Amino acid sequence: MHDDLFEKIIRREIPAEIVYENNATIVFMNINPVSRGHVLVVPKHYARDLQSGSEEDAIELMKTIYHVAPRIMKALGATGYNLGMNHGAIAGQEVFHTHIHLMPRYEGEARTFEKQGIPPEEMKEIADLIRKEMLLAKNN
Ligand code: AMP
Repeated sequence: MHDDLFEKIIRREIPAEIVYENNATIVFMNINPVSRGHVLVVPKHYARDLQSGSEEDAIELMKTIYHVAPRIMKALGATGYNLGMNHGAIAGQEVFHTHIHLMPRYEGEARTFEKQGIPPEEMKEIADLIRKEMLLAKNN
């Protein structure tokens, strides 16, 4: 069993604001977001980076993004999003468990990639809006 930070989130050993999960992937709020609603999309099978994992896991990641991104935009009023991946230390990867950043973008807001702090209550409020929208989409 691997023991990195995101494994611990998957196993509920450390807290995270999880907004979606299926058999292959999990999506949770980034504790240092670059935009409102910045989430990380993570495969449940451990791999240190995308190229170390299976093609199936890469496909599952993109399927989850396809499914979750429009719901996040709707929940938060975003009109676009950036996807990002830091692959390898040379690219700035800090957590060595594959993940894709999904960063919602809003009209009239500067497009920054600077990490920001966020109070836990505010992160939970944003996560609640996303979870509500995910539930609505599931029930329709
Ligand atoms: P990187 O590996 O460079 O793509 O960055 C890892 C990302 O994980 C950073 O944006 C961090 O803010 C984020 N991060 C680190 N610890 C946690 C955590 N406990 N919960 C959620 N996000 C985290």
